[in-house]
Amino acid sequence: MNQRKKIIVATGNEGKMDEIRQILGRENIDFASLRDENLQDVEIVEDGSTFEENAMIKARKISEITGQMVLADDSGLEVDYLDRAPGIYSARYMGEDTSYDIKNNHIIKLLEGVPEEKRTARFVCAMACAFPDGRSLTTRGVIEGRIGYEQRGDNGFGYDPIFYVPEFGCTTAELTPEEKNKVSHRGRALTAMYQELISEKVL
Ligand code: IMP
Repeated sequence: MNQRKKIIVATGNEGKMDEIRQILGRENIDFASLRDENLQDVEIVEDGSTFEENAMIKARKISEITGQMVLADDSGLEVDYLDRAPGIYSARYMGEDTSYDIKNNHIIKLLEGVPEEKRTARFVCAMACAFPDGRSLTTRGVIEGRIGYEQRGDNGFGYDPIFYVPEFGCTTAELTPEEKNKVSHRGRALTAMYQELISEKVL
């Protein structure tokens, strides 16, 4: 139990690494990013049809290469009025290189005239953990909100300026990073993963 454990996180995003360290961090765990493992250039085809499948594709691939325990996530925005688009295509929506200012304004435009109660949306995050012996775990975290009528706030990234959370009375781009981490889809998926890892006696 007191043995040191290493968890590779299949991401190149330092912000995600920090959040994962904050939530899963324990004295006996060393976290390594893809860059730490010199694996940042490994090509991974995310061709799953759900957030969970895509997270597992990443975790499994890196676990197969390294023979270690690997954690990966996949996340995105679901807009109910748009049949849950952009969903798993959130990063690629309107092209990977299109700015979020353009993507966000486009979504606002698509929802022009749509009443409050039909503007429901959610951020979803699936977390997958793959073990070298073939076992795996997945968890999901969600934050419910509405698509706003204009972009608001400078914090966060991606679709945050149009994601209005009624219980906070603001968008996730208007929350501080600490406030957002406490309630975010990623924070919730990670907390659920922490509990799974404890009950599976991995941690
Ligand atoms: P990935 O899981 O890091 O590939 O993220 C997928 C995409 O979902 C991001 O590029 C964003 O477009 C969107 N997304 C995921 N989480 C958030 C969030 O917390 N705020 C805003 N956009 C997000």
